[in-house]
Amino acid sequence: MLATPERTRDDHDRPIQLWHLLGDGHVCNGECDFHPIACSNTEGITLPAGTRDVPVDLDEPGQRWCGDCLVIAQK
Ligand SMILES: [Zn+2]
Ligand SMILES: [Zn+2]
Repeated sequence: MLATPERTRDDHDRPIQLWHLLGDGHVCNGECDFHPIACSNTEGITLPAGTRDVPVDLDEPGQRWCGDCLVIAQK
């Protein structure tokens, strides 16, 4: 699933990348100033770090799916 990362911190204040599903209809040219995300109509990622094809069963340290986006990705 094509996703875009949000830099944030986990419950233990460790830096993580939270992956959001790319918003509907966004065509990424690799130089976007903003990425819409599937879990919100109003929020998005400013100055995003690009996109990545992230597996639904993502299992990497410091990486996790946004819960709402994961639900959408699994439909
Ligand atoms: Zn999300
Ligand atoms: Zn883009």
